[in-house]
Amino acid sequence: MTSTFLINQGVAHDTNNRRHYVIVPDAQVPGLYEENTAVTVTERLLDVYLRSSYARQMYFELGTPLALPDVGPVQPVVLYIHIPFCESLCPFCSFHRVMLNIPKATTYFRALRRELHLIADKGYQPGIIYVGGGTPTVLPDELAITLELARSLFPVRQVSVETNPNHLREEVLSVLKAAGVNRLSVGIQTFDDQLLKDMGRYAPYGSGAKNRERLTLARGWLGTLNADMIFNLPGQNEQSLLRDLEILIDEVRVDQTSIYPLMTSRRTGKTMRKTMGPYSLQNEKPFYDRIRTEMAGNYRLSSIWCYSRNAGLIDEYIIADTSYIGAGSGAFSYLDGVMYANTFAINRYGRMINRTGAAITAHRVLRDYQQARYDLVMTLFGLSLQKDDFHQKYAGRFFKLLWKELLALRLAGTIVDDAGQIRLTRKGQYHWIIMMREFFTGVNNFRDQMRDHVRAERAMPEVPARPLDRSRESSVAAG
Ligand code: SF4
Repeated sequence: MTSTFLINQGVAHDTNNRRHYVIVPDAQVPGLYEENTAVTVTERLLDVYLRSSYARQMYFELGTPLALPDVGPVQPVVLYIHIPFCESLCPFCSFHRVMLNIPKATTYFRALRRELHLIADKGYQPGIIYVGGGTPTVLPDELAITLELARSLFPVRQVSVETNPNHLREEVLSVLKAAGVNRLSVGIQTFDDQLLKDMGRYAPYGSGAKNRERLTLARGWLGTLNADMIFNLPGQNEQSLLRDLEILIDEVRVDQTSIYPLMTSRRTGKTMRKTMGPYSLQNEKPFYDRIRTEMAGNYRLSSIWCYSRNAGLIDEYIIADTSYIGAGSGAFSYLDGVMYANTFAINRYGRMINRTGAAITAHRVLRDYQQARYDLVMTLFGLSLQKDDFHQKYAGRFFKLLWKELLALRLAGTIVDDAGQIRLTRKGQYHWIIMMREFFTGVNNFRDQMRDHVRAERAMPEVPARPLDRSRESSVAAG
């Protein structure tokens, strides 16, 4: 389900003729639109609670190779493909990525294609492909061959690919267009040259001015052009943030932009403090409110941090069912209440796929309550959820499983009930920013753990992957 939550707005000008966007409610639902830039006690408590809660929840059993299960009762709609190579490594980044080595990357793409065959053999038929990284376009021809294979195996209707601005060149764009890519998401992060230098991105990925030119060139090539931006970077001030927004809205006129708060892991947080300076949450809320105000005139909000210029664009994947399948080193899958992670050891990934037909080396079984909580968090990322869908999915138990959470969210003014839906209020949209920031910080910490495990994994023999035995796993689920 794609969110259809539209913001109606008007534009006002002050005495200096500066634009101010006025958000006009499209429904008289109390709490949906009020705004207060001060960080409240609730928000501080939410930060602390979620940090410890997600730290506890990211417990995975590591090491034992598991076979990918055959497709279950729910056919996942999304296939996520991970390409872990970059031409330069940014210090703030917590993703699974390594420096590009062309022979290694070529071998990797071959193993990836073998994994796609294995996924199809298990009965999976995803229709939406999301290729992330790393930088998926480091070898555009290899990517195109891989996407062509995916199209021959699955009923693909949408392909979204991440890239870096230095790849916005006609020769790369034409390969992507021919490969059927219809959404390109470009890691811009900021147009501020000083911040780009501090982030280690200025030299390898281009200055603010260069990237403005490149984005302008790329407009219109593929269905949806998205600019990925980060706010609340160390050293970022309000002026710099507003300049970024002005460039996006008035100059580049990008189709869509995802503006995330900075999310690190314990390890990258330390590296980042050394290279970029101290990180604080103090500006996060006022910056978020500024972004909302500035974007409201031209963009509709399609998830808590994604803004689209019109309704025909492809959103970040926001769908009714939150299960998905992952392919590639470091990719996650979420299938039938179980989280799986493929090995982060890139050479071993190829060996495992070729010798045992699976690359899963970590997993976590979620109990009903944990599944319901995960579904709630992920679905409200798209701003609203249909109560009937959840009632059916959990055989009438959803509201019983999560009554405490839902009550607390209602009392905190985070959600409201509205015509068969639960919606995030205006205040709740920022609460969900906190929720997602802490969730992804937990995921990033897990990635650190998987990277630590790589050396031990390299020495492990390739033993046949076993199927998951849910009865044996009940003790893991309690972790
Ligand atoms: S931010 Fe992007 S380019 Fe930089 S290391 Fe991470 S994945 Fe690679």
